Amino acid sequence: MPSDHGSNRRPSHLFYQSRLRRPAVDRAEGIYLWDQDGRRQIDGSSGAMVVNIGHSNPYVLDAMRRQMEKVTFAYRLHFENDAAEDLAARTAALMPPGLERIFFVSGGSEAVESCLKLARQYALATGQGGRWKVISRFPSYHGSTLGALAVTGYDALTQPFAPMMREMPKIAAPTAYLDRDGLSMPERGRRYADLLEAEILAQGPDSVLAFIMEPIGGASTGALVAPDSYYPRIREICDRYKIILIYDEVMSGAGRTGKFLGAEHWPASPDLVALSKGFASGYCPLGAMAAPDWMVQPVLDAGGFQHGHTYAGNPLACAAGLAVLDEIAAHDLVGNAARMGAILKSRLEGLKARFPFIGDVRGKGLLLAAEFVADVETMAPLPKELNAYQRVVDLAYERGLIIYSRRTRGGVEGDHFLVCPPMIITEAQIDEIMEILVATLDALAAELHL
Ligand code: PLP
Repeated sequence: MPSDHGSNRRPSHLFYQSRLRRPAVDRAEGIYLWDQDGRRQIDGSSGAMVVNIGHSNPYVLDAMRRQMEKVTFAYRLHFENDAAEDLAARTAALMPPGLERIFFVSGGSEAVESCLKLARQYALATGQGGRWKVISRFPSYHGSTLGALAVTGYDALTQPFAPMMREMPKIAAPTAYLDRDGLSMPERGRRYADLLEAEILAQGPDSVLAFIMEPIGGASTGALVAPDSYYPRIREICDRYKIILIYDEVMSGAGRTGKFLGAEHWPASPDLVALSKGFASGYCPLGAMAAPDWMVQPVLDAGGFQHGHTYAGNPLACAAGLAVLDEIAAHDLVGNAARMGAILKSRLEGLKARFPFIGDVRGKGLLLAAEFVADVETMAPLPKELNAYQRVVDLAYERGLIIYSRRTRGGVEGDHFLVCPPMIITEAQIDEIMEILVATLDALAAELHL
């Protein structure tokens, strides 16, 4: 029997993470989505920071239609396919120097799993079989499959599965904005990076395989950016102990932060990159790992990469990905993300004057977040019972704006919301977002007595 699950629509056989149900979507175009009653929402979070080039892009739809008419699936053990070859070449050209080998998957968790498994097989193929620990950060989010979850720092998601997976060592995420220690930001950046060295030494350097981090945080930290000094120091430490540095760019990649990769904001490159979300912009499930030849070749020579998924290199998904990259280049959407992101960020900063419970605004490009606090001096979080992170999303939705939120930050809990519209956004559309956001925050302040 289909059940109602608190539905506002009709009984359903479907289930997702929670009982929450929203109206059914009817159509979408650009930065807007409409439900079946004709109500419009501004997609202020690009779905889950996915639809970077906006909805219903005619060029991408046309490229997909042309690919569909030729072939939608051909298994990689039976055929090569041009869409996958072309997309691999185009992707490699967008990666940091040396990351010229591309492995396709269907999503972000699979991309992260691929990085972990390639790193491990590289260690085995090169006589370093004792290396298996992957250090990550707390909080962080790297995906929902058991391997990606093992390096995820998010108790509510990991703890229920504790006996089924091996929890990997974690260091604190660089939440320098919360510190009241009298240090300068560069000093704090180095201090947070040095936590990695301390953890490597504590674990035993010969047992550590890799370190994984989101160069610019996603929903787990609310677009956390470390002080600039953090990134080169992390690279130095990984080099010193021969640790593979993995950047999870599932959310920060594909132009969202105003560079094609978040990594490009700093002069330090990763050894492996995980991509998904904006890579095919939601037109098809697609993800990728970018890896250097020095890591791939020994694994292939030692008998092959023991990993892969049925849909890897799917021609339709790859054709969609290629067309998305074409659109990003043709309309300089990475540049637009940088320009519009700077405008949106300063408008969000401006909200602090009117709403004293906004304690921090952060992020780069169009990966932006604002954090709520009870007190801007101490940065103490709002009480959990206020449920501010959920209420702000609901109040915005009632007013026609989709935003994304979580109640996580550094060691303590805190409410933040992300504003991450598609990279095609215009200044006039930023005005539309801000008008609804101000009305939303007014309503939140009145409801929660902030
Ligand atoms: N890594 C990061 C940084 C993410 O933000 C996400 C999803 O939000 C993932 C990995 C997992 O991606 P997916 O949900 O496509 O498996």
